[in-house]
Amino acid sequence: MDTVGRKRASRERHHGVVANVSARIRSWLAWLQCHNKAICVATAVVAVVGTALSLSGCSVVQPTGGLRVVSTTTQVSDFTRTVVGDAGTVYGLIRANQTAHEFDPSARALWELSQANVVVMNGQGLEQWMSAALEAAGFHGTLIVASEGIETVDGDPHVWTSTINAQRMVGTIATGLSRVDAAHADVFSANAANYQARLQALTTWATDDFAQIPEAERLLVTNHDGLSYFCREFSITFIGSIIPSFDDNSEPSAADIDRLIDAIRRSGAVAVFSETTISAKLAETLAREAHVAVYSGADALYADTLGPTGSAGATYIEATIHNVRVLVTAWGGTNTSLPEGVLA
Ligand SMILES: [Zn+2]
Repeated sequence: MDTVGRKRASRERHHGVVANVSARIRSWLAWLQCHNKAICVATAVVAVVGTALSLSGCSVVQPTGGLRVVSTTTQVSDFTRTVVGDAGTVYGLIRANQTAHEFDPSARALWELSQANVVVMNGQGLEQWMSAALEAAGFHGTLIVASEGIETVDGDPHVWTSTINAQRMVGTIATGLSRVDAAHADVFSANAANYQARLQALTTWATDDFAQIPEAERLLVTNHDGLSYFCREFSITFIGSIIPSFDDNSEPSAADIDRLIDAIRRSGAVAVFSETTISAKLAETLAREAHVAVYSGADALYADTLGPTGSAGATYIEATIHNVRVLVTAWGGTNTSLPEGVLA
C-alpha cells in the first residue's frame, strides 16, 4: 500500500475507534442504569455519572468555583493551564506518554467533561473520539478548537510542533476563555502574552541553533509523520518515517522499511530518531541496516505527547528544547545556552 493509501486506511481505522468508543460508552451507561436502581433511567447522564462515582467510592472533586476546563492533548493542556493560571482548574484528558491519536474515556474523564464550562481541543481531526465522549457526558459548555485558523498541510493534525503555531493556539485559547469568563479576560490575556513572548524567544533560539547546520544536512528520519510543521519551521528536510502515517499506531510493511533504508542511503541522513511514545526496536533495526546512528531512550524526540513531571519534556517548551538539542548535536552542532526567560 502506498503512503496515501496507508493514510486513508489510518483515517478509516479512526472511524472504527470512534464506533468502539460509542459502543463502550453505551454499554457502560447501560451498566450504570441496571446497577443503580435508585437512579431514574431518564436522569441526565451528568447525574448518572456523578452519582455512580460517589457510590463506588471514587474520589470526586466537587466544584469549588471558578472556570472548570477540560483539555485534550498534553500540549493543549500545557497551553491551557498556562493561560488559565489561578483563574480556574484544568483537567487534562490525555496523560504524559499517551498517544494523542486514541483515547479511551474513563468514568472520571466523562464526569469531568460533564462538569466542565469549557473544553479545549487540538482539532484538525486528531480527537476523533471527542464528539462521542461529549455526547455521552452531556457536555453543555463551550468548545474551543485551539488550532482554529491554522492552515494544515495534507490534513496533518500535528500543528503544535511549530512553535509559531503554538503561539497562535495560545492566543485562540485566551480569546475563547475570555468569551466564557469575561471577568478574567485581563488575566487570560496577560498570561497568554507572557507565554507567547517565551515561545517567541524559544523560536529565535532554536532558529539560531539550527543555523549552525547547513540546510542540506538537516535530514530527519523519525518513527511517524508527527513533526512536519516543526521541519517546515526550521528548514529541516523530512526524509521519511518508519510508520508512513500520521497515526503512531499504524505498522510499516517490509517494503516500506526497504524504501526508507534506500531513502536514508541516498539522502545521506546520518541518524534515525525514535519518538517517546513508540517502541524504539524498529528504529534501532532500521538504523543498523542503514548503517546510521539511532537516537532513542533518553534521546528520543517528543512529538505526540509530553513527558511526565521531572522528565526532559514535561512541558511544551522543555520538550521543544530537548528536541532541538538532540537534533543539533546529532547533526554535528553545539548547543548554545538558552536566553533568559524561556524557562519559567
Ligand atoms: Zn501523531
